[in-house]
Amino acid sequence: MIYLDHAATTPVPEAVANEMYRALLSYANPSAQYPMGQEAKKEVEAHRATIARALDCDAPCLHFTSCGTESDNWAIMGAVHHGRHVGKHIITTAVEHSAILETCKALQQQGYEVTYLKPDKTGHITAAQVADALREDTVLVSIMLVNNETGCIFPLADIARLLQERKSRALLHTDAVQGFLKVPCAPAKLGVDLMSLSAHKVGGPKGIGALYIAPHLKNFRPLLFGGGQEMSRRSGTEATAQIAGFAKAVSLRKEQLEESWQHMAAIKAYCSEKLLNIDGIVAVGEGQAPHILAVSLVGYPSANVVTDLGAQGICLSAGSACHRGKLSHVVQALGLDKRTAGGVLRLSFGPETTTADIDTVCAALEQHMRSRFPML
Ligand code: PLP
Repeated sequence: MIYLDHAATTPVPEAVANEMYRALLSYANPSAQYPMGQEAKKEVEAHRATIARALDCDAPCLHFTSCGTESDNWAIMGAVHHGRHVGKHIITTAVEHSAILETCKALQQQGYEVTYLKPDKTGHITAAQVADALREDTVLVSIMLVNNETGCIFPLADIARLLQERKSRALLHTDAVQGFLKVPCAPAKLGVDLMSLSAHKVGGPKGIGALYIAPHLKNFRPLLFGGGQEMSRRSGTEATAQIAGFAKAVSLRKEQLEESWQHMAAIKAYCSEKLLNIDGIVAVGEGQAPHILAVSLVGYPSANVVTDLGAQGICLSAGSACHRGKLSHVVQALGLDKRTAGGVLRLSFGPETTTADIDTVCAALEQHMRSRFPML
């Protein structure tokens, strides 16, 4: 099997699974007062500190959630509550994950106005676009760090600087689910107030994410009320095994961060060069993230390619896994012609991907094109 869908989810290393198993067996509730409970609490805090170190932030700024989607929902709903006396305008992009877009849509139903910035043909968004859209009543700017389909890195630090220069009262949120441990991602350095993360994109388990909330947001609205866990902001008994797996995955990746960035970037360059040498394959966007490459087999419906390669044990994606079957909103926003848009494929790499994997996949794609007629 060749797995080139690391932007959808990542393999869980055995060491992560073992750590989760160990944490599952230490079943005490971290809120319990006896030693076994206190030990569990200590472990949760140590795991929080491990992840916080990877972000260069203070541990209490990190709040565990059930996934990136939950973090995105909380960030947006919390930010509009925070800015309720400022206004009802939000700026985001047309190429965010559905966790952002659907939450914004729900807010539009409640009278919020949302500006969706469109990327250019290369897939990029600029701080100047945010400057043009920014208003007195803007309460939130939510822009992802790395786009999950094109791999484009968006200029969060420039946007943060702009908000400061304009003395905007808007909070700045970034969905860093695809950026975490793939590109520099320290929230304070980027200048963001809120940052969403998800474990399963970095070798951790599914079902655990985190929201960074900057220290100055003391009264940020809690997501869940109850027993007061997560600094009284997201109640619910801690998912100790998921948290342990998240932290183990982060520490494993962190140990080899530079090497894995270089490795993925080299694999991407190798793959890109090979694919773009094949007649009929073109680049889609100009994403710089090391782990995502978008191309199009112009005229060849991507669903057929994915099925054909899938039958050969090759896993890649026709775009975001969340939009199975229909042209994704990201591809639509790039304004590609129909034949190019219909043939978009996303190949996404991990630290384990080899050049031999790439050779096999390129040969399979070439064979697919040779053995069929273009249908679009
Ligand atoms: N944001 C981005 C950019 C993503 O790629 C994803 C997952 O595909 C999510 C959010 C959602 O994360 P989760 O699957 O943890 O809910």
